[in-house]
Amino acid sequence: MIDSHCHLDLPAFAKDWQAVVAESQGCGVRRILIPGTTPAGWQQQRRMANQCAVLDIAFGLHPYFFPQNSDTALSELGDALATSDSANRLVALGEIGIDASIDTPLDTQQALFEEQLKLAAQYNLPVILHHRRSHHLLIESIKRCQFSGGGVVHAFSGSEQVAQSYIDMGFKLGVGGTITYERARKTRKALANTDICHLLLETDAPDMPLAGRQGQRNSPVYLPEVAAALASLHNTSVADVSAHTDANYDSLFGRLDHCK
Ligand SMILES: [Zn+2]
Repeated sequence: MIDSHCHLDLPAFAKDWQAVVAESQGCGVRRILIPGTTPAGWQQQRRMANQCAVLDIAFGLHPYFFPQNSDTALSELGDALATSDSANRLVALGEIGIDASIDTPLDTQQALFEEQLKLAAQYNLPVILHHRRSHHLLIESIKRCQFSGGGVVHAFSGSEQVAQSYIDMGFKLGVGGTITYERARKTRKALANTDICHLLLETDAPDMPLAGRQGQRNSPVYLPEVAAALASLHNTSVADVSAHTDANYDSLFGRLDHCK
């Protein structure tokens, strides 16, 4: 199975990320994608990918770390994309999006999101989307930019109707620890009724602890528990979930024709 969203470059893993990767492999996790958040993070991700062959990376400007000077940050992002390709295991642009729970004005976030969608189109990369009470704005932007490169809606939560809107635009849905909580009824129902061919597994470690592990550092080591929760929603086996979601990952991020 593959962890399609794990922030292994963050300080929470600074001391032991290599041990965490090794332990995850022992638990059946064969690849891990580290999404980008800041220019400093992209450098760190590049170094980690050079050291460890099971890591894939993405570069992007996360809405939580909104740059003071967005023009400079966007040109740095363009440079980072131009000097990396699938040989460096750069597989996507992200994590990008819109978050209605932070202070940055929504129109400012939406403008930066659309600039990054344009860069993704230019470099023929899929995107990794961050949402919080913002599905309507993200969908509006994807349509306005006529972005057709697809990607993944990281940590999908929402209704069946919202899920279908993304799938219709060529997106996959990232399934994480949320589904291990019984109270997440709407999201569990939406994902139970979504064909596994549209889903990817993820942990969002070190964030989004699974049910029963609140207050602890989340880790890709726990990805099999997410797979088990999804398998039970679909009345199927973990092996089946694993095979499908791995194939979905490879078809979305394993393309060799992007970047140049
Ligand atoms: Zn994330």
